[in-house]
Amino acid sequence: MALVNALTIGIDIGGTKVAAGVVDPEGNVVEKLRRATPGTSARATEDTIAEVVAELRGRHDISAVGIGAAGWIDVTGASVLFSPHLAWRHEPLREAVRRRVRLPTVVENDANAAAWGEFQFGAAQGESHLVCITLGTGIGGAFMHDGELMHGKFGVAGEYGHMAVVPDGRRCECGNRGCWEQYASGNALVREARELVAARSPVAAELTRRCGGQPNDLTGPMVTDAAKDGDQLANELLGEIGHWLGLGLANLASALDPGTFVIGGGVCEAGEAFLGPARDTYRRTLAGRGFRPEARIVRAQLGPDAGLVGAADLARQSSRLFRRVRRRQRVASVTSLRA
Ligand SMILES: [Zn+2]
Repeated sequence: MALVNALTIGIDIGGTKVAAGVVDPEGNVVEKLRRATPGTSARATEDTIAEVVAELRGRHDISAVGIGAAGWIDVTGASVLFSPHLAWRHEPLREAVRRRVRLPTVVENDANAAAWGEFQFGAAQGESHLVCITLGTGIGGAFMHDGELMHGKFGVAGEYGHMAVVPDGRRCECGNRGCWEQYASGNALVREARELVAARSPVAAELTRRCGGQPNDLTGPMVTDAAKDGDQLANELLGEIGHWLGLGLANLASALDPGTFVIGGGVCEAGEAFLGPARDTYRRTLAGRGFRPEARIVRAQLGPDAGLVGAADLARQSSRLFRRVRRRQRVASVTSLRA
């Protein structure tokens, strides 16, 4: 079977779960598996990767494996330098997986993989200059310039969540204060809502009912559902998160000048209650507003599959490239033999 038409596996490794999928060249997920992420050791995470690949290969003819990992990947794609939520510290993940699964393997940052997925098959098709933001525990970020993922000199570009937006603001796990993700992530939304429930605020009556009066049981989907059902506080909280998102996007526009911002993550389920305020603040804070074209701010289309679909496609692209290089090398050696 020609590799270009073959199936590849994409694996999205987050802090809490591993999602693996068999993906065809059109970006369709043929089959999907989920596992909890064993964050205890790098070895345990590799075991899980090897298991899901073996299981999927039992049912499909697979040509390559792409991994989107929640961590900082070195610029060669060989190792994970650091992961805030997993056990990777200078971990040579690509070789470790390749040796176990015996297939061409590529490793990419999870947010970059998601951006690639949206670029190839989702909300950003046809957009050459793109910033992709995923709101979850923190803020995942990626930047594509002229249709290519930008990795930076050391491979760790796109960590927008740790741009300081509030001097001396809220403390962040990264060690600093006032980071963007402390104000505009899914976690920020839940934290604000929980504070109001814990304070027994009358304005939080509906959210209090939904979590049974237990602030720690309150989840992001509970807030977005309450907003959809017309709860005023839930809508206000989403508006605030949207405001902070728009402010950060205006800063990113000054630095990167993209044509489109693609916004993903569970918070987007709230739709315009969230993205409307983001667009408003973006327009009000954009430098040189009124005198420059404005980037579109759109919702991601691939949902939670973006990372694995993107990783699978990167694996396909990479093995095509690899074959082309190998062919060229072979042609070159044959030519030199003849000479
Ligand atoms: Zn931070």
